Amino acid sequence: MSKVAPELVLNADQLPDTTDIPKIEPTPSKPLPKPLADFKQYVESKFCYHAKPVENAELISVEPKMAFQCHMKILIEARKLRTEVTPYRWHTETVLGSRTLGRFFEETELRGEAIGHIWNDYQVDLPSTEKSKQTLALVESISYLRCSRCRGKCIVSCTHCSSGLVASGTKLCSYCKGAGKVTCSRCKGLGGFRHTPTLTVKWHTQYSTWFYQNSFLHVKRIRKGQRTQVWSVKHEPWSKQSSIENVVQSIQEETPDIPLKENIIKDYYEKQLNPVKTKNNAMRRLECSIERMNFEEVRYKMGENYQNKKDPTLESTFRFCQYPGPEGKTVIYENDYPLNCCGCFGEKAACYSSCCTIL
Ligand SMILES: [Zn+2]
Ligand SMILES: [Zn+2]
Repeated sequence: MSKVAPELVLNADQLPDTTDIPKIEPTPSKPLPKPLADFKQYVESKFCYHAKPVENAELISVEPKMAFQCHMKILIEARKLRTEVTPYRWHTETVLGSRTLGRFFEETELRGEAIGHIWNDYQVDLPSTEKSKQTLALVESISYLRCSRCRGKCIVSCTHCSSGLVASGTKLCSYCKGAGKVTCSRCKGLGGFRHTPTLTVKWHTQYSTWFYQNSFLHVKRIRKGQRTQVWSVKHEPWSKQSSIENVVQSIQEETPDIPLKENIIKDYYEKQLNPVKTKNNAMRRLECSIERMNFEEVRYKMGENYQNKKDPTLESTFRFCQYPGPEGKTVIYENDYPLNCCGCFGEKAACYSSCCTIL
């Protein structure tokens, strides 16, 4: 007789839970880190760009960077001396009751004070505006001259007739109406002239904007981005001999790879001072300000197939910047995305082309 196996009583709690079938999920696409997700959105917004490869991009680094915009204004002064000549009443005294004798003995020129040195001897207040002009009459140096044509007589002989008659003495001259004399046209019948020396002082402002950074942002982007003023000075008086080296001493340099003082000194000499150094003008006022923009430079890779053609030293690494743009929005700037031209026709047709880099 075969043994009957005892009845196996199963405890439900000990049984494996077969209803819990392990799920077979498709490999989840790795979510892109925030900077790359932003970048993907940017690439997708570009008409010509091919965005697909960004999904497989690998984030290498996010580095804080800085850009500075330095604005310099210099008030330049030019001076010019002119003499204004106007007919002026000449008064001849009589000598022994005779004006003819008076004219014979008088000085034909009454000189004013000698004109001084136009740069050293005349003080002119600087304008508060960036462009201005002032004309000063140097009244102490006004001179009076007797008319050399009529010798102060105010009248001259008529050149169209002989004693007021023409046509062999039968007809009155129509020019002088028979008088034989006409008003001196040179001095307008006043007998002399007034020479007024005038000093014209003109100011204009020479502007320069320089950009310094430790990244590769386009200057237009720095100009459009949101910046904060970190330094400003105003020096008045200022001259071509003033020391820019002293002025920049108060600049706080924030990062060793942007030597602000050195850069400003160099640009001041090259772009502001040297072009006007030998010109006959003067520097009067210097204003300079520095604004800073903080931003991030992001580096990424998209595989060995993609080589950086903009900067071959970067090999298969690419970069973009995220900077604070207008209205506080973060804006992306890049110039080396490898599929930035014809990318809309697919990856194979896409190529790098600098003409497609829209600023
Ligand atoms: Zn005259
Ligand atoms: Zn005449």
